[in-house]
Amino acid sequence: MELYAESLTQYKRLKTLEVKVGDLLIGNFNPIRIQTMTTTDTMDTIGTVEQSIRCIEAGAELIRITAPSKKEAENLLNIKNELHKRGYTTPLVADIHFTPNAAEIAARIVEKVRVNPGNYVDKKKFELIEYSNADYEEEIERIRNRFTPLVKICKEYGTAMRIGTNHGSLSDRIMSRYGDTAIGMVESAMEFLRIAESENYYNIVLSMKSSNPQVMVQAYRLLIENMQNELGHCYPLHLGVTEAGDGEDGRIKSAIGIGTLLEDGIGDTIRVSLTEDSEFEIPVCQNIVKRYSDLRNGEDSYIPPIKNISKFLPDITVRNTRNTFAVQNIGGKHVPVVISDFHKKDNITRNDLRDIGYKYNSTTDKWNISDMAADFIFCGETQVDFALPGTLKPIFNYDSWKESPDKSKCFPILNEQQYLDDSVEKSSSINFVMLDCYSKNYPAFDKEKFLQKIKDDNTAVLSLSTENRNAVQSIRRMFVELNEREIKNPAIIICDSNKDTMDESLIHYAIETGTLFIDGFGNGICLSDHYSDKNLPAGRQGKIPDYKLLNSIAFGILQASRTRISKTEFISCPSCGRTLFDLQETTAKVRAVTHHLKGLKIAIMGCIVNGPGEMADADFGYVGSGPGKITLYKGKEVVKRNVPEAVAVEELIGLLKENNAWIEPELAHSV
Ligand code: SF4
Repeated sequence: MELYAESLTQYKRLKTLEVKVGDLLIGNFNPIRIQTMTTTDTMDTIGTVEQSIRCIEAGAELIRITAPSKKEAENLLNIKNELHKRGYTTPLVADIHFTPNAAEIAARIVEKVRVNPGNYVDKKKFELIEYSNADYEEEIERIRNRFTPLVKICKEYGTAMRIGTNHGSLSDRIMSRYGDTAIGMVESAMEFLRIAESENYYNIVLSMKSSNPQVMVQAYRLLIENMQNELGHCYPLHLGVTEAGDGEDGRIKSAIGIGTLLEDGIGDTIRVSLTEDSEFEIPVCQNIVKRYSDLRNGEDSYIPPIKNISKFLPDITVRNTRNTFAVQNIGGKHVPVVISDFHKKDNITRNDLRDIGYKYNSTTDKWNISDMAADFIFCGETQVDFALPGTLKPIFNYDSWKESPDKSKCFPILNEQQYLDDSVEKSSSINFVMLDCYSKNYPAFDKEKFLQKIKDDNTAVLSLSTENRNAVQSIRRMFVELNEREIKNPAIIICDSNKDTMDESLIHYAIETGTLFIDGFGNGICLSDHYSDKNLPAGRQGKIPDYKLLNSIAFGILQASRTRISKTEFISCPSCGRTLFDLQETTAKVRAVTHHLKGLKIAIMGCIVNGPGEMADADFGYVGSGPGKITLYKGKEVVKRNVPEAVAVEELIGLLKENNAWIEPELAHSV
């Protein structure tokens, strides 16, 4: 093991125990399983059955259904029977919060129960209590007494269990001792795990979810270390980012959180929680899992191992980043830059820049610049015949840069040989230098001389890319080598895609770059789409890349990895049988009026039972508290209770105004 993974330089799955859920095997190198959760009322048997079937037909291998009380738990039998009658035997999972009685009923009916250790026994009052060791032990004993009956039922009925910790719903006891931390999440699960093991019950899957991918990744890694050290074995892991939201942002956030772990061979089952119909989650899961279906080991995936790799990785537990110096606005204390790749365009016009955040006003001859405006534009060989906005700097291939009328206003990109050749002219301010990270014939140049020259050059910005099949591991390995050699030049992560669909490309970009940003690497991002490549399927050949989408994905990746905030963050639950209003419609309504509030985190949660706990790090919350009633939160504090739904969005705006968190839309940047 290397820290929390089997290997940090090769794709290798983590060995875990094997768990049986009905006929489905999870962990121990079985395929990564895909699951989702219904959003219907559990008492609506036919509605739930029909939604389950749509999910199963789409590819779900497990279906989770909420059981808020005994009556819903009992109705799981009707749902299961109806599914069997229609020929569907996909295992069902009962989702339990707060109600051990419901869990004990469900465990006799369905193949798996999910319990939340933060609220299975404890009621959350957001109180900070000083526990002596004896008090704490007494609390653990209380949990043992309440949780053991469920363990015994699961053992007797062959039912599996997920101990599913959520960052947002840690108990007051855990919060009092460990705070709102990843280690608190781990300990919350370990308390339950120890009790289960003391009953010789091992049919367990664990999860550590958070709406913040950084916290989530850190918690899973810590959990693995803890299980290895304390128990000597690992349980299978279910991965997910909670309340990821919807659309592109929800997909990016989920792919980054889940993908960062899967890249290291961690994770045996996944769910992408979107505020959309459940069946739409499945293709996203499939696009993620697809990356890991081949072994990815072979000639074109070799990466030289490195001793003590952990010594040179940034410590994610303190969220530090690689130490770099600044080359103009790249590296040092600057947020990562975004480079738009326009090199395939024969002609670049003012209007084209609208896609990357710059709107030209011909009357005033001024540029309107959005919060998601790219910092650099890579033009390749295409010269630009108009004055670019001051905040957008052009990069050219070396020969074109050399021919450029004013070399001080643009920058060259050089390959390794050009950079090493002293007779080749360089820019006095920024030189982007390509570095291939462990592709098949790497290196085809004098690497020692190259790295020494880079180290001594305060104009050099590395542009890291690879054709290695294990791209994340290759680029991470290069970052580790840079750290080991104390090379502090900033580095841009370049990621190309030639996937068949843009949905797949989005997952590809998010995982291959987001994983590195989560780990504290990278001072910039450049995404390219090889739409026009000849080897693509007929329908995609010759198409021009969607620059607007690529720009939006790049900023989305930086936002989700919390390295550059350029928009409002919406934390919305996926909804379930507890939901008290139309979550998709409400999320759209709230988004429509608050999307310009850059940096603000707004939670939209379906129920008061779970919502307030789950929205962990939101600044403001809009939570369903009864039919047609909304309760508004500032952080974790209730500020307006039971507001009629018809006026709740207006009240939310009022609350934002009272707290100086509101900006009139016309005063915000927009393009
Ligand atoms: S917060 Fe949303 S998903 Fe979670 S229990 Fe409530 S309604 Fe269901």
